[in-house]
Amino acid sequence: MLEVEGLRSRYGRIEVLHGIDLSVASGEIVTVVGANGAGKTTLLRCLSGVQPVSGGSVTFRGENFVSVPAWKRLGHGLAQSPEGRQIFTNLTVEENLRLGAFLYADDRVEKDMGDAFAMFPILKEKRNLAAGGLSGGQQQMLAIARALMGRPACLLLDEPSMGLAPIIVAQIFDVVRGLRDLAITVLLVEQNAFGALRVADRGYVLETGRVTMSGAAEELIADPRIREAYLGI
Ligand code: ATP
Repeated sequence: MLEVEGLRSRYGRIEVLHGIDLSVASGEIVTVVGANGAGKTTLLRCLSGVQPVSGGSVTFRGENFVSVPAWKRLGHGLAQSPEGRQIFTNLTVEENLRLGAFLYADDRVEKDMGDAFAMFPILKEKRNLAAGGLSGGQQQMLAIARALMGRPACLLLDEPSMGLAPIIVAQIFDVVRGLRDLAITVLLVEQNAFGALRVADRGYVLETGRVTMSGAAEELIADPRIREAYLGI
């Protein structure tokens, strides 16, 4: 579904992605793990089109994506739940969800909203409240639900566990695992390597703008280098 080859990106004169190769097949959950500053967010922003690409290619569903503007990428089936959630705090929960469906004006919007509320009952309870009053975990659920309202074939998730208590992190990873049942392909970027690799089929390790390891998630979890560097074992 998604093919990235030799992807490069820079901030001004400083290159931070030095030729990334990765692929995500339809129906897979793939994770990119790496330390703070490795380039994970920059990578996702290149894929969603808000960060310029200085070399290489991004192909989504067989189409060259580099020249497709960010605002059109959702229409092609690619949605992002951004780092830091970026919800609209002054709008209600329901209004945030409706914004996720900005491309659509059909009856399915109400059905999708019902599905989102079934997935996250707490959002239904709080649908008419300002989103800024939600807890961090609830805001993360809202960010994911809002992205799903865009009916993506593939969802880019940027550090959904960031800043959340362990019990909430477990809930969020359960939600990610559940996306498989909705036939949504997932590219999950995480510092929480253990949590991410446990829900993923495959993983890539990103270090200072380069992929240094990749493989089946269970192989990466078992790899002594990963266990020492990322799992603290
Ligand atoms: P984090 O988990 O902190 O988000 P990350 O793996 O997502 O880390 P990026 O945020 O992609 O990493 O950052 C990759 C590199 O690019 C880092 O060296 C960072 O300092 C640098 N960088 C990120 N954003 C900018 C920016 N707007 N201007 C200049 N340099 C930046």
